[in-house]
Amino acid sequence: MSLIIGSHVSFNKEKQLLGCVEKTINYGANAFMFYTGAPQNTNRFVIDDNLTKQALNLMQENNIDFNHAFVHAPYIINLANDKNKDFAISFLKQEIKRCEQLGINKIILHPGNHVGLGLETGINNIIKALNEIINSEQKVIIYLETMSGKGTECGSRFEELKQIIDGVIYKDKIMICFDTCHLHDAGYNLKEFSLLLEEFDQIIGLNKLGCIHLNDSKNLRSAKKDRHQNIGLGYIGFQTLLAITYHDKLINIPKILETPYITTDNKESYPPYKFEIKMLKEKKINDTLINDIKEFYKKTN
Ligand code: FE
Ligand code: FE
Ligand code: ZN
Repeated sequence: MSLIIGSHVSFNKEKQLLGCVEKTINYGANAFMFYTGAPQNTNRFVIDDNLTKQALNLMQENNIDFNHAFVHAPYIINLANDKNKDFAISFLKQEIKRCEQLGINKIILHPGNHVGLGLETGINNIIKALNEIINSEQKVIIYLETMSGKGTECGSRFEELKQIIDGVIYKDKIMICFDTCHLHDAGYNLKEFSLLLEEFDQIIGLNKLGCIHLNDSKNLRSAKKDRHQNIGLGYIGFQTLLAITYHDKLINIPKILETPYITTDNKESYPPYKFEIKMLKEKKINDTLINDIKEFYKKTN
């Protein structure tokens, strides 16, 4: 079984899912994740089923399993605070419908920010909202992401995520997505990854882990900042990220990069994914990563 790896890709109006798949192939990847529109607003364009069909065909031709494709729910959805609860619930329901129309059966969700209500109330709000959203028939699985603990985020400890799962009626519709930057910022020691997995297995169960966001971090462990760094250039480091990538208990789990774009001298930003994926596949750090990315995009422009 080879590596299941990919990155965040952009979903634009003209090419939609087809564009996502083309970028994935270009990056040398076989998995991907996208927002169905800007994560900070609710503008969503009409999905073109013809483009979706072409995208699914292209995936098949290139051995990209649709089970390795994820949608990320927008940040504006906050299930932990009851202030905009009706909006958050209806928008997440719409996002799930969009996933279904696109043939995607996995959506990543940040559990929510309690914004001063306290962790317990926040978690209870999340549970209530999820029980309003999820029905027994839906095919789309909601992946709760492990958070960094920044601000009033809920879900930065395995125990909190476990509490949420315990309160959800249709537990088979919930899975967990690790984010390495978030785990590190929340205080987990990624250098002892097998121990961390054991802890997760005891609290939640390894069978609930279905996706890994593979990011380095710009901050020290426990910083609770949530600032992603390019692979090998942060405080987690290449060897630790490599050990996670190739961990024998995680072979079947897609790894998705959400590392920052690189800004070139002409002030344009470009995705680093093609280069980071190459490093991880070759198991070799590229000491001139940023320069190589800049050079590459200079030439192709
Ligand atoms: Fe996320
Ligand atoms: Fe993430
Ligand atoms: Zn993050």
